[in-house]
Amino acid sequence: MSARKWLPVWQRIPGSSPQRWRRIGWRRFKPFRADQHIKGLRPVREVPREDREVYKRTIIAAARVAEQFGEVWHCRSSYRTYAEQAALYAAYVNGTGSLAAKPGTSRHEKGNALDLGDARNVNIGNSAVRRAALERAGFVFAVPSEPWHVEYQG
Ligand SMILES: [Zn+2]
Repeated sequence: MSARKWLPVWQRIPGSSPQRWRRIGWRRFKPFRADQHIKGLRPVREVPREDREVYKRTIIAAARVAEQFGEVWHCRSSYRTYAEQAALYAAYVNGTGSLAAKPGTSRHEKGNALDLGDARNVNIGNSAVRRAALERAGFVFAVPSEPWHVEYQG
C-alpha cells in the first residue's frame, strides 16, 4: 500500500511585486513508474537483490528519455539470470538463436543493459534523435552491430 501524498499547486498572483504566490489547489503525488513508459520490462521484484539497484537506475533513466518524447517504448530484453543467458548462448552456439554473449559476461546479467525498440518497436538506435537523447542520459550503444542494445553507465 502506498502512502497517499498531496502536493500544493501554486500560481503567481498577477502583477504582484515583489512576486507573490497563492495556492490554487492540490494534486495527488504520482510516483514515476518506468513501466508506464517502456513496455516489456522485467518486474523489479524478479531481479535478485544484489542487482536490483542497478536495474532500477537503468530502467528509470531509460523511461525518462521515453517520457521526453511522449512515447511508450518496447523492451525486448532487460535483466537476465545466468541460467537464462546460458540458454541463449547455447541456442546461439547450436545455430537456433541469435548472437548472445557467454554466460557470466553479459551486461544483461548485471542489470544495466536493455534491448529497446521505439513506439513501433523499431530499433531505438535507428533514430538519431533518440540515440542522442539516450547518450545524453548516460547510455552507450556498446555493440555497433546491435542498434537496440544500450548499457547504462550513469
Ligand atoms: Zn542486449
